[in-house]
Amino acid sequence: MNAEIISVGTELLLGQVVNTDAAIVARALSGLGIDLLHACVVGDNPQRLKEAVETALARSDLLIVTGGLGPTTDDLTKETTAAAAGRKLVLHAESLERIKTYFNAAAVTPNQEKQAWLPEGCTVLQNDNGTAPGCAFTAESGCTVIMLPGPPSELEPMLLNRAVPYLKTMQQAVIVSHNVHIYGMGEAPVAMVMDDRMDGENPTLAPYAKEGECYLRVTAKAATEAEADALCQPLIQEIYQRLGEYIYSVDVESLEEVVVAELARQGKTLATAESCTGGLLAKRITDVPGASSVFHMGAVTYANAAKEALLYVPHEILAAHGAVSEETARAMAQGMVQRSGSDLAVGITGIAGPDGGTEQKPVGTIYIALSDGKDTWVTKRAPIGRTKSRDWHRHCAASQALDMVRRYLLGLPVAPEK
Ligand code: ATP
Repeated sequence: MNAEIISVGTELLLGQVVNTDAAIVARALSGLGIDLLHACVVGDNPQRLKEAVETALARSDLLIVTGGLGPTTDDLTKETTAAAAGRKLVLHAESLERIKTYFNAAAVTPNQEKQAWLPEGCTVLQNDNGTAPGCAFTAESGCTVIMLPGPPSELEPMLLNRAVPYLKTMQQAVIVSHNVHIYGMGEAPVAMVMDDRMDGENPTLAPYAKEGECYLRVTAKAATEAEADALCQPLIQEIYQRLGEYIYSVDVESLEEVVVAELARQGKTLATAESCTGGLLAKRITDVPGASSVFHMGAVTYANAAKEALLYVPHEILAAHGAVSEETARAMAQGMVQRSGSDLAVGITGIAGPDGGTEQKPVGTIYIALSDGKDTWVTKRAPIGRTKSRDWHRHCAASQALDMVRRYLLGLPVAPEK
């Protein structure tokens, strides 16, 4: 099924509103295994909207139009789209009653009532968060047309709770997707490793970038969920064979969830000593429900004095190598194992920027250490390519620390040097 989105609204063309509706719809379509081939934005102009709808009806199996369903005179989506699709509008009594109830009024103004006029014979998509209902119908061309309100707070629930089930009933096949999450290898090299499997049709394989990491989505279609899943599994195994240790999960969204679960499974505890990440690593760990059984404590030790007092980092190390150094990161992790009594501790120190970089230690230089009290491993993140934000460096350093813990727990190489 080939789909197309038309987002209606002059405010979108003026850049006053970001087209988040299109992204929400695109994600839902991708989850359904529906190919989105075109997405365009049209202002509140009936002639240009008519042209866009006619083009979509002629070339697409599914058209989703967003925005312009409201009461104002520039809300022309329904009238224009229905006319282009050869449908007249009729008053939908139930929607009118809902609008009256919404306004707690026996009668509503003509422009409020306008929202209850819908294409004849359509399936009405009830709006649980506003007044303008959406609708779905099949046009004479055979194209399925779905209209959704513009405000994302109305569009998203209507899409997920009403339009997606409607689309599922139309699809003969069941779609199953699995996301294989990867850390430590970028989207481009991952795509190269899997290159010969990228043009498969069932299952399909597609790479996606995620902040500082990436994932491969495996999607299959079949008559039942079990059959679609069975089509996915051999490809997932193949990905495991090729990318093995870089895969941190299938379908578990974050490194922190994987790490907390594995610590709990092994009955191990973790503590964190952070400088440039300012507690982000501890936050990400404690975002995971159940973290209390594995996470002992976290310290944000920004000043050298705090590193010395709380983590027992020797004054001589700080004086000789500086706060941002492999030696300091190592001492922070070792000191935290001692201070917390945890099985494992992480130490992070670096320069998140935008200021503070030097030629030897540019912004983005971050040392991450993991200690189990006996051995300590340190990795260095060095900035590559274009300048990244402070948030980026901090997020990536926390992710790398989590991946080191994951690798340690699984008996994989933790870091290049010991
Ligand atoms: P309403 O009943 O609120 O008038 P509507 O369906 O007529 O809903 P619009 O009038 O087109 O929707 O837009 C209402 C508001 O919804 C816009 O001002 C904007 O804030 C938001 N909106 C509209 N389209 C989009 C979009 N594509 N992405 C994100 N927000 C949007």
